[in-house]
Amino acid sequence: MILPRFEYKKVQSIASAIALYKKHKGKVRYLAGGTDLVPLLKLRLATPAVVIDLKGIEELKTISRHGGWLAIGANVTLFDLKNDPAVKEYFPALYESLDATSCETLQMRGTIGGNILQDVRCLQYNKSMEWRTARGFCFKMGGKTCNVVPNAKTCFANYCSDNAPALITLSAKARLSGPGGERTIKLEKIFNGAGRRPFALEAGEILTRILIPLKKTKGAYEKLRVRDSMDYPLVGVAVSVADGKVRACVGGIGPEPRVYDLKSANDGAVNEAADKAYTDARPASNTVLSAAYRKKMVPVLLKRAVKKVMQGGK
Ligand SMILES: Cc1cc2nc3c(=O)[nH]c(=O)nc-3n(C[C@H](O)[C@H](O)[C@H](O)COP(=O)(O)OP(=O)(O)OC[C@H]3O[C@@H](n4cnc5c(N)ncnc54)[C@H](O)[C@@H]3O)c2cc1C
Ligand code: SF4
Repeated sequence: MILPRFEYKKVQSIASAIALYKKHKGKVRYLAGGTDLVPLLKLRLATPAVVIDLKGIEELKTISRHGGWLAIGANVTLFDLKNDPAVKEYFPALYESLDATSCETLQMRGTIGGNILQDVRCLQYNKSMEWRTARGFCFKMGGKTCNVVPNAKTCFANYCSDNAPALITLSAKARLSGPGGERTIKLEKIFNGAGRRPFALEAGEILTRILIPLKKTKGAYEKLRVRDSMDYPLVGVAVSVADGKVRACVGGIGPEPRVYDLKSANDGAVNEAADKAYTDARPASNTVLSAAYRKKMVPVLLKRAVKKVMQGGK
């Protein structure tokens, strides 16, 4: 499938990216590794006039430690992040989620910023224009219906980043820069729960850094997928324990990750969180596994991840 026509601009600074965004009145898309965006362009699911390549911005490529935080540039590749000594030593849930992300070839190209900001997915959406036209446009394509859930009022596409749930369990923050200035927010606040447009970013905002409190944690990531060699999560559950506090986050099911702060790691508290996660999960029949099976696997994976962490896990 060939790419549509667009103007390609490579920038060296955040300021010039934002200036281009303003100049082209928002008809742009930012590009990092392109592993999510390029397929969307080919399928005509994204049709920008200009693609602004952020890969030339040096400050987005660094990992540094200061003031008790690990600061990760948005353009750091998943592979480099996985192999950073701090990640292995301090953040096992993130190490495991990075390791479980697709395959090493993709990890060497895909960035952590692009991974977090990847679009939600649905078997009825990630298709060619011809296929979608024949089927009829759904909510996410500007239509008036969902092609999966009859009489639905919203889109049930799935957010499939392996790493955002792990980062959320580590209380990570997102640093954003845009036409309105800079701000830092909790990572979970970038999601708005709307499958149609799943991110609560201001127009033109660039994710510049992810900040994680630099303290040792215990953690694990459990992923349901069809092929272990390379596959999106059909459910993904991260668990981290920091300062005795247990935090779990469920992704891969519905348009946003869901976070659970457990009262403790005892059986009662774990069962309570697992039951809540089961109730909250609202899968639709829009992946290669059935909705009922994916829902059942949410508490299973949550309990498995906590058990792994508490019974001598990393
Ligand atoms: C075959 C295949 C398998 C995959 N498997 C997995 C998997 O198992 N797990 C998983 O988590 N993901 C998976 N992915 C999804 C995703 O492509 C990768 O995770 C990758 O990390 C995305 O990063 P990227 O740099 O290529 O993003 P890009 O494609 O460059 O960008 C993704 C989105 O983020 C926006 N963007 C990028 N950087 C910024 C920024 N700094 N500020 C603002 N917006 C930005 C882009 O405009 C675009 O909308 C898979 C993709 C493919 C093609
Ligand atoms: S869940 Fe429904 S509205 Fe959302 S992308 Fe799939 S078919 Fe479209």
